[in-house]
Amino acid sequence: MLETIDSNVRSRTGGKSVLILGGGLAGLAAAKKLVDNGFQVEVLEKRNLFGGKVSSWKDSDGDSVETGLHCFFGAYVDLYDLMRELGTYERILWKKHELTYTLSKGERFTFRTWKLPSPLHLTPALFGNGYFKLREMLTFAKALVPILFGGDKYYAAQDDKTYEQWHEGIGISKRMLKKMFLPMALALKFLPPEELSAKVVLDVTGNFLRLPHASEMGFLKGSPDEHLTGPLVSYLKRNGATLRSETKVKTLLYDGDEITGVELESGEVLHADYYLTALPVHNLQRLVPEPLKEKFTFFRNLDAFEGVPVITVQLWYDKQISHTDNVLFSPDGVIPVYADMAHTTPEYATLRGLSHAGKSRFQFCVAPAKNLMPLSDEEVLARVDASVRDCFPETSRGAKVVKSTIVRIPQSVYAPTPDKDKLRPTQATPVANLFLAGGYTQQRFYDSMEGAVASGRLAAKEVLMRCGIPV
Ligand SMILES: Cc1cc2nc3c(=O)[nH]c(=O)nc-3n(C[C@H](O)[C@H](O)[C@H](O)COP(=O)(O)OP(=O)(O)OC[C@H]3O[C@@H](n4cnc5c(N)ncnc54)[C@H](O)[C@@H]3O)c2cc1C
Repeated sequence: MLETIDSNVRSRTGGKSVLILGGGLAGLAAAKKLVDNGFQVEVLEKRNLFGGKVSSWKDSDGDSVETGLHCFFGAYVDLYDLMRELGTYERILWKKHELTYTLSKGERFTFRTWKLPSPLHLTPALFGNGYFKLREMLTFAKALVPILFGGDKYYAAQDDKTYEQWHEGIGISKRMLKKMFLPMALALKFLPPEELSAKVVLDVTGNFLRLPHASEMGFLKGSPDEHLTGPLVSYLKRNGATLRSETKVKTLLYDGDEITGVELESGEVLHADYYLTALPVHNLQRLVPEPLKEKFTFFRNLDAFEGVPVITVQLWYDKQISHTDNVLFSPDGVIPVYADMAHTTPEYATLRGLSHAGKSRFQFCVAPAKNLMPLSDEEVLARVDASVRDCFPETSRGAKVVKSTIVRIPQSVYAPTPDKDKLRPTQATPVANLFLAGGYTQQRFYDSMEGAVASGRLAAKEVLMRCGIPV
């Protein structure tokens, strides 16, 4: 059992209160840091469950449904600090350090790494993947110089173009754009290279390639509800935080100087010493009062952001189709990134409560989803199934889908299209008692689990500093 907060810590803050808007990872991570430092914390969440985009729940058969397929990357820091504090870090199962691409008609290639200092660890990926020709890989090897050594200034300067424009400008082979970078861009932010900012791809790729362990990937051994957000919610409750679900915030109340309260959809008004919003930016836009937007460009800039649509599909088959215990990429069809969870996530090797071991249970990120959103569930599921059969023509022969689930997210992570990065706000705002958290706020990991946790902890730090508490 973890310790509860002692009364000396509480007295440090003089019982100051913080209202946190949004019970996703950013809001919950901020809540933990504030509770640990003795604040009175209340979290307001509009849905009937916590976790936001990483939330999961059980369907009527008792099977877990996730908002999205979540991979953990070796590069993350704040997320793992948090999980270690909760005693849940060991629930991440790290997979073999390689990337496997599954293509139309059963074609395959894999990028492997060696245990050597960077960039030598990439040698087998560059020259031993067996798919791209040496000539193509040399165009990429040349581009590795700015990717690896360009640094923050160089990446920032590329935010005025799309990844496709950068890729073509630097002369990397076109086939590598279609077959390697398309699924990578879609996996990163659910946007194709012709829409995604070059900065995001270069920054993330540079980070992943510079540190050999950074691109290692892992999966939770079961659902995020049980192994990530659930333990966090329990910790907060145990340590005196109030968590209110089904509590939708309608607006922030502003008196021309500071935030004086929040009004809920129900009409109730709540007050606190500090307000920390951890809402998706498209939700926050609607809550910020016009006078605040009129007074500060900082808040007007929020209106420039929007969320990217994405769809999550699960398919259970009556036989084993994939034999890979790892994430899989596919440039062909509608499943850029997916996993056979019956391998990757041992607690998911079930169907309706019974063992499904030895048979496939896939979870897919379906993107780009803009043109798929208007389709019926049956049509989306049929396209996903067709992509599976195209990538696994042999092992899928005769396989039947025995169950499916589908989750549509019309606005998921913020869209990091060109020229957005400079508009990302800091966690501290021009209003002394208002703070922002979320993947769209400034931190290194964009809209990801790490970005959410890092932003939540940074926002909480700003609250501490505002109270004169050393951080
Ligand atoms: C399909 C998918 C796959 C992903 N895969 C990965 C991955 O592999 N690895 C990775 O690191 N990241 C991944 N991510 C990104 C990651 O899930 C998010 O970046 C992170 O969870 C965002 O957390 P957040 O707290 O900032 O926002 P959210 O999770 O969106 O939380 C915001 C909360 O605010 C609530 N809210 C909104 N409006 C109101 C209101 N008016 N009043 C009260 N509450 C409100 C929402 O209900 C929500 O719970 C994925 C995301 C998706 C959608």
